Amino acid sequence: MAAHDSVERKYVYDFAEGNKDLKDLLGGKGANLAEMTNLGLPVPPGFTITTEACKAYLTTGREPDGLAAQIEAHLESLEREMGRRLGDPDDPLLVSVRSGAKFSMPGMMETVLNVGLNDRSVVGLSAQAGRNDRFAWDSYRRLIQMFGKTVCEVPGEEFEHALDEIKRAKGTHNDLDLDADDLRGLVDAYKKIFAKHTGREFPQEPREQLDLAIRAVFDSWNAERAVLYRRQERIPADLGTAVNVVAMVFGNLGPDSGTGVAFTRDPGSGAQGIYGDYLANAQGEDVVAGIRNTVPLQELEQLDKTSYDQLLGIMARLEEHYKDLCDIEFTIERGKLWMLQTRVGKRTAAAAFVIAGQLVDEGLIDLDEALHRVNGAQLAQLMFPRFQLDHEFEAVAKGIGASPGAASGKVVFTSARAVELAAEGEAVILVRRETNPDDLNGMIAAKGILTSRGGKTSHAAVVARGMGKTCVSGADELDVNVPAKRFTVGDHVVNEGDVVSIDGTTGKVYLGEVPVMPSEVVQYFEGELDPETTDDALVRAVHRIMTHADAARRLRVRTNADTGADAARARRFGAEGIGLCRTEHMFLGDRRELVERLILASGEREREDALAALLPLQRADFVEIFREMDGLPVTVRLIDPPLHEFLPPLEQLAVNVAVAQERGEDVAKEEALLAAVRRMHEENPMLGLRGVRLGLVIPGLFAMQVRAIAEAAVAVVRDGGTACPEIMVPLVGAVQELETVRAEAERIIAEVVGDSGVEVLIGTMIEVPRAALTAGQIAEAAEFFSFGTNDLTQMGWGFSRDDVEGAFFWRYLELGIFGISPFESIDADGVGRLVRIAAEEGRAARPGLKLGVCGEHGGDPDSVHFFHEVGLDYVSCSPFRVPVARLEAGRAAITTTGSDSR
Ligand code: PEP
Ligand code: MG
Repeated sequence: MAAHDSVERKYVYDFAEGNKDLKDLLGGKGANLAEMTNLGLPVPPGFTITTEACKAYLTTGREPDGLAAQIEAHLESLEREMGRRLGDPDDPLLVSVRSGAKFSMPGMMETVLNVGLNDRSVVGLSAQAGRNDRFAWDSYRRLIQMFGKTVCEVPGEEFEHALDEIKRAKGTHNDLDLDADDLRGLVDAYKKIFAKHTGREFPQEPREQLDLAIRAVFDSWNAERAVLYRRQERIPADLGTAVNVVAMVFGNLGPDSGTGVAFTRDPGSGAQGIYGDYLANAQGEDVVAGIRNTVPLQELEQLDKTSYDQLLGIMARLEEHYKDLCDIEFTIERGKLWMLQTRVGKRTAAAAFVIAGQLVDEGLIDLDEALHRVNGAQLAQLMFPRFQLDHEFEAVAKGIGASPGAASGKVVFTSARAVELAAEGEAVILVRRETNPDDLNGMIAAKGILTSRGGKTSHAAVVARGMGKTCVSGADELDVNVPAKRFTVGDHVVNEGDVVSIDGTTGKVYLGEVPVMPSEVVQYFEGELDPETTDDALVRAVHRIMTHADAARRLRVRTNADTGADAARARRFGAEGIGLCRTEHMFLGDRRELVERLILASGEREREDALAALLPLQRADFVEIFREMDGLPVTVRLIDPPLHEFLPPLEQLAVNVAVAQERGEDVAKEEALLAAVRRMHEENPMLGLRGVRLGLVIPGLFAMQVRAIAEAAVAVVRDGGTACPEIMVPLVGAVQELETVRAEAERIIAEVVGDSGVEVLIGTMIEVPRAALTAGQIAEAAEFFSFGTNDLTQMGWGFSRDDVEGAFFWRYLELGIFGISPFESIDADGVGRLVRIAAEEGRAARPGLKLGVCGEHGGDPDSVHFFHEVGLDYVSCSPFRVPVARLEAGRAAITTTGSDSR
């Protein structure tokens, strides 16, 4: 190695020097090749160039100092080990050059095989392979093809054409019918293509081939498709890729050679067993390209029992070592087995739970680790209904599972038609090339959305996820013709009105209506499936892991619910109280009229009458909820939204009044209503007269609600129940607001509860940035805080929560301004900072201050970890997300032991 004045960075690691924990530096493939080498498994020798080298190259545009010399030294030792030299005309060493980033990015980056072949060493390779000229020339043409395409950007089709041409001349469709002379001719043709596009001859110097291939792998980190993939999978852009240089082994030397892939368990269901495919007399890329049909791995037993037994032994060893499902790639070269890759394998959500449970049974991992191996997103996926698929239904296309769920309906191509048919009670699927903000109404009306373009962050995907609507995006086999109202896929033509079914989890598209099956996991949470007696492995595993999550978590989990039914369901799902009961929902329906009376009241008397009529109705609402949540805390929030939401829209009312006036009808009442609506009209109602401001402006409104809550609690207690009400004031920005409301509330509560033993806490939402920044003062008047992260995000970013997701978030996501909507997952740096400040300053002012969150983020997995870390007491979320929050709160509480769950 070249001597340098300063300490030189180590950029190249021999396989024997690395291990599986060095993924940051060696990438996943390199780290695992090193691990297998150290386990004594048969890995072809090689070395890994680090991600650090890649990053240095990508930043400066040139290889870092010392890299060339380190490669030289490792190459020499590889040559010594193999007893062959790169480029040796008589007995050449060939190497593969493979990318390998920290997180697997299948097919996104480059690989070059057979590096080291040239016009002279091709002869040596033939001799090495027992005078197998065909094999040698086939390897050489593969090198020129791969090298030309990936290193020098020669259009791949030109090579394909030349190959087709030779096959046509020979009158065959099968590559295997080409003999050595044909392939030699093909090499000549390939070289000409190479020279035409690059202006130079194909490089004959093996070391130059190697250096250029390494550089191409580095560059492929920033290839468009890799950038796109990372954005979709939320893989950081600055990790870089490692490069693995590995001695070639050949699966295409004859019938005693071959190549295959395998899983140590079924990655679909988690079932134990051996799952894999084998292809005799082939190289790895042939399996992927599907040139010939593979056979199930079990058939290898007949072909080569020794290798088969050895492979099974290695798979068992890998599982035991990694303590997880592994997937592997292997090659058999003339009866000798070589391991080319292993990694902890990707799996479905169901398999993740089942395998974690099995590994605990097998004593390989403990329950903490099992909990670490699953996540809330997987659990949420398992709670959606699924299609009941049998052989009758075959997917006609596969796009991106952009928003989970299963939906069937009649195809429509425009937003207007979607709205029209939905109004007639039809289930519709809106099909577009891609959606834009004008499609919003159609998206709302549709059961599901299907697009032929766009990824997980496209407009359709983002908006559908926001709505919780099933969406498949980027199904590019679909040719969508909106003016003709039809799409074609393969041989099928689908017209408006035809029924299709889409699976937002797998991305699959089916023709016709596929029956939908309820989720067994929901049945379990509902108490309809007994985990002790069921033979459903998934339910048993979910039960076991949830039980452990509950034991491990520090955060309590409450629910957002404002009906008895929701409260009851959430309780079955494990909610430990209500964190947000929005009382405004109780003012809708036939009570709207009372609210109108309240708003239109011309004097104290009329207003009091309206409030008096509302009081018993509210009291009954609260009694129902307190009963369902008997013994658990219930946070009731006083009315929050601007009152005009309870009145008819201004434009419609103005038109009605004008028409009625024209006709000479008596419109006194409507005119009064119109005047009130005009009076209350605001340009920015979400920043206007709402929340505590309403309570301070409309006399008696909050007082009525406080009285209803206190009276309901007393009624429940008198009936032998236990009610634990917590009254919450919305939109507070200054302590004085809260103090004013509090003084009146305390007076009413004292009057109502008397000696009933009912205790009522009074607290506030923290959802205005000013409240977060003056939390120390506000805590003086609050027994609890609940973070309203919806409004805090709206006001923290200045994003109108009702508009922006459909209007421009897709573009922000595309540009990477954020990786996920801040309304979906808490923006830890900005909005999260407000939460942190308020939690710290609130607790400093009032030790023991109860802290919770009731914005949408309360059920988002990443946000739950954030709230755990900030030290909140509980999260509150919609009933369906309660199990997800329980699981994630458990995961946040356990100390993690390493393997990344991505
Ligand atoms: C919030 O703002 O986060 C909140 C829970 O209140 P709402 O969504 O009702 O405004
Ligand atoms: Mg709010």
